[in-house]
Amino acid sequence: MSDSSLKPWSLCEDESEAIDSADSPSSESARIDHDDTRDSDAWSGEKVRFRPSALNLSPYWSLGVFSVALGWCIWGMLSAPTGTGLTRGSAFAVLLLTVLGLCLLIGATLGRRTAIAKMLHAVKDGFGKEQAAGGVIQATELGPVWHAIEEHSENINRRVNELLNAHRQMSMELTLAGAQRRLSAGIFGTLPDPLLVLDSYGQLIQANAAAEQLFGFNTEECLRTPIDSIIVHDELRKVIRQARESDQRVAERRAEFVLTDKYYGAHIVPLAQKEKSSEANAEHGMVVLLRDITRERDASRKKSEFVAHVAHELRTPLSSIRAYVEMLVDGEAADEATRKEYYDIIHTSADRLGRLIDNMLNISRIEAGTVRINKEPISISMVVKEACDIMRPSAEEKKIKLTEHLTPVVFRILADRDLLYQSVLNLISNAVKYTPEGGEVTVRMTPHEEKKAILVEIQDTGVGIPKEDLPRMFQKFFRVEANKGMAKGTGLGLNLVKNIVETVHGGQITLSSEVGKGSTFGMVLPLMT
Ligand code: ADP
Repeated sequence: MSDSSLKPWSLCEDESEAIDSADSPSSESARIDHDDTRDSDAWSGEKVRFRPSALNLSPYWSLGVFSVALGWCIWGMLSAPTGTGLTRGSAFAVLLLTVLGLCLLIGATLGRRTAIAKMLHAVKDGFGKEQAAGGVIQATELGPVWHAIEEHSENINRRVNELLNAHRQMSMELTLAGAQRRLSAGIFGTLPDPLLVLDSYGQLIQANAAAEQLFGFNTEECLRTPIDSIIVHDELRKVIRQARESDQRVAERRAEFVLTDKYYGAHIVPLAQKEKSSEANAEHGMVVLLRDITRERDASRKKSEFVAHVAHELRTPLSSIRAYVEMLVDGEAADEATRKEYYDIIHTSADRLGRLIDNMLNISRIEAGTVRINKEPISISMVVKEACDIMRPSAEEKKIKLTEHLTPVVFRILADRDLLYQSVLNLISNAVKYTPEGGEVTVRMTPHEEKKAILVEIQDTGVGIPKEDLPRMFQKFFRVEANKGMAKGTGLGLNLVKNIVETVHGGQITLSSEVGKGSTFGMVLPLMT
C-alpha cells in the first residue's frame, strides 16, 4: 500500500506540504500530483481530472473517537462501585482513543486550513496552475463550494470569451467603418462643388473643401455646430430650415442664391433615417449640394441679349424692305428713276439681311462645333491677294491707296480656304470702311519661321478705335459708337474673324489702334512644317 491516499497518517504529511505550498506557490505545481492532460490555459474551461492526495478528514471522525473514549470512561466510573470499573488496560485504551481523536481533530483542522489556503490561492491565480489544488480542496467538505466556484468561473470564462469575440467583431466593423468614412471623405474632397451634410438637428456632420472655402469654416472645428452659425446667408439658412422641418418626402428642394458675387444653385436632399421612416414628419438630416451656376446664368443672359440684338438687327432691313415694297405696291414711285432707287434700297437691305443671317449662322456653327471645316494645305499669300483684289475697286472708289506686301507662295498653312478668305476680306473691308477718303490701307505678311507662324497685318490710317473700346471689339454686335456714322454694319464681322482664326485654325488675333491715326488688325496663323 504505497499510495499515500490510503494512509490516514500520510495526510498530515500532505497537509503540511500543502500548507507550505500555500505559502510558496512556486513550488506548488511540483509538489501536487495532477494529471498531465490538464490544459494549462485558465480560460479553456476544460474540466480537470484530479487524483486526490488527501482523504476527507472530517472533524466528526474525532468526535466519534472522543465519544467512544468518553463513553468508556463513563462506563468505567459508573461500574467502579461494583469493582468492574476501569482497569489499567482500559484506561490506557481510553488514553489512546483520546490521542487518536486529538490527531484526527488536528488533521481535519489542518486539512481545512490547507484547502482554504488553496482555494484563495487558486481564485487569486485566476484558476491557473492552482486549479491543481482542486484535489486537496475536494478532499475536504469544501469540495461542493469549490465545485460551485469552478462552475461560476467557467460561466465567467464563457461570458468573457463571448465578450472577446464581440469585441473582435466590433473592432473589425469599426476598422471597416473607418475605412469607409475615409473613402467617402476622400470622394467628398474631390468634389469641386460645395457639399454639406447635416444631421436631424441641423448640425454639421460633414463638409468638403469647396464648402469650407465658400463659407470660411473648418469642418473639424465646426463638427456638430448648428448650420445657422456657420452659414451667414439668410436665404440659404431659411431654405435649409424649411427643408429640415418639412415632411421627408417633400423635403427635396432647389433654390438659387447670390454668394460672394457668384450665382449658386442649391440642391437639398433629405437623408433617409431608417428608424424614423415611419414618422413622416420627423426631422431628418440632409445633404446640401451647391453648384456654381454663374457661367450658366451669364450664358443664358447673353443668349437673351443675343436674341434681342438679332431681332433688332433683323428688324431694321426688314422694315426697310417692307416699307419700300409697300410704296411700290401703292404706286408711290411715279417714275422709273424713283422705282430704281427703291429697288436698290430693297436690294441692299436684302443683302444686309442675308449677310447678317450668314454671319450669325457661321458664328453659331463654329461655337457649337458643327461647322463643316475642310482644311487643306493652302498658300496663304494667294488667299490674301485674292481678298485684296476684290477690295481694290471699293478702295479706289474712296481714293484709298491699298498696298500689299505678300510673302512667297511657299509659305503654306493648313486651313479652310473659304473661311480664311472670309476673315481676311472682313478685315480689309473694315479697314476700307473706317478709313476716310485719301487714306491708306497696307496689307503686310511677315513669316516667323522660328515660331513656325505667319503674321498677316491689315493696317489703315483710318478713324481708329477709342482705348476703352478695345477690349470689347470682338464681342458680338459691338460697334464703336463714334464710328457708327461711317458705315453700316452688324457688329458680327470681327467676332466671326476671331472665331475663324482662333477656334478653327488655332491662331491668334491681335489689335492695336489709336483714335485719329488708324488701326492695325493682325492674325497669327501656324505654318505647315
Ligand atoms: P461691322 O463692321 O459690321 O459693324 P465688325 O464686327 O466688323 O462689324 O466691326 C465692329 C465695329 O468695330 C465696327 O462697327 C467699327 O466701329 C469697329 N471697327 C472695325 N474695324 C475697324 C477699323 N479698321 N477701324 C476703326 N474701327 C473699326
